[in-house]
Amino acid sequence: MSTNTSPLANARIAVLGYGSQGRAHALNLRDSGLDVVVGLRPGGPTWQKAEADGFVVKTPAEAVKDADLVAVLTPDMVQKQLYNEVLAPHMKQGACLLFAHGLNVHFGMIAPRADLDVVLVAPKGPGALVRREYEIGRGVPCIWAVYQDQSGKAKDYALAYAAGLGGARANLIETTFKEETETDLFGEQAVLCGGASSLVQAGFETLVEAGYQPEIAYYEVLHELKLIVDLFYEGGITRMLEFVSETAQYGDYVSGPRVIDAGVKARMKEVLKDIQDGTFTKNWVAEYEAGLPNYKKFKQADLDHPIEAVGKQLRAKMVWLQADAAQADAAPLKKAG
Ligand code: NAD
Ligand code: MG
Repeated sequence: MSTNTSPLANARIAVLGYGSQGRAHALNLRDSGLDVVVGLRPGGPTWQKAEADGFVVKTPAEAVKDADLVAVLTPDMVQKQLYNEVLAPHMKQGACLLFAHGLNVHFGMIAPRADLDVVLVAPKGPGALVRREYEIGRGVPCIWAVYQDQSGKAKDYALAYAAGLGGARANLIETTFKEETETDLFGEQAVLCGGASSLVQAGFETLVEAGYQPEIAYYEVLHELKLIVDLFYEGGITRMLEFVSETAQYGDYVSGPRVIDAGVKARMKEVLKDIQDGTFTKNWVAEYEAGLPNYKKFKQADLDHPIEAVGKQLRAKMVWLQADAAQADAAPLKKAG
């Protein structure tokens, strides 16, 4: 029927969830000529969006019933219940179960049925980028893994799915559920979300407590971080060093290691150990099941930090930022991690 030679050419794919990753996956796979239905809770916030994008939208149970591959792209903390109540009873014998993050399978919250293939395809970027790169004929690198290979074709399915996302145009790297889960958690905790935000807040507090204006402190420790991160992204630390002054470089060499010292690295190793031995995930599941009491408190503290109010005022005076933010909201899917 089709000239598509993908191992998924004749497969029906059910994408569950239509958020950051779900929307990008569904659109890219469809544009790659694959057969995609979207599974969502009736009345959920993204149902209309998926329909407006032209998808057939069904309840998760209806969507997975005749699917050959089910991509689980809901929030991690709802996946266990979704698997137990909907996927385990309704998925076809011998179908392929796909995740974009290995957390639930690696830490045993989900024990997939023995007849299923179980694979991972994780694009190394937020959904908006996965979609945008695909549309301009490029792709975001993907890492992939096989957890369970019942059909003998699990690897083919993972690679075909990654190709359908556009990832094969960029780079595909094989990993394991263990490696993907542990490194992803470590990155977001120690460096990206946790490390970077704590570093910025501490720098801001240091300057303000020393009597400097909060507005100036904001520009120095938060706003300008983007310029530095863009250079890292384009050409590593090498490129950053090429673009900053000799004075900035000398300060980097002598003061960077005073701030981020061996003690920081020792504590990073403790964070990694808590991730590896399951302590972090056990605590996170308990927190989620208790209704997120600490999560809400921690979040409020971040939102109430003085740097947020200063930043809000200053950003209102940088018109180009309004345009960028409007574009990101239209795109809508801004999360990483
Ligand atoms: P998201 O929060 O952006 O979207 C979740 C979607 O699931 C929404 O459409 C929501 O309505 C729907 N949903 C929620 N509960 C549901 C339920 N019970 N049944 C059906 N649908 C439900 O999520 P996301 O950030 O795209 O994350 C999805 C997966 O992708 C996670 O496993 C995450 O770890 C992984 N991941 C995310 C990123 C990223 O950049 N955001 C990157 C790589 C991997
Ligand atoms: Mg993550």
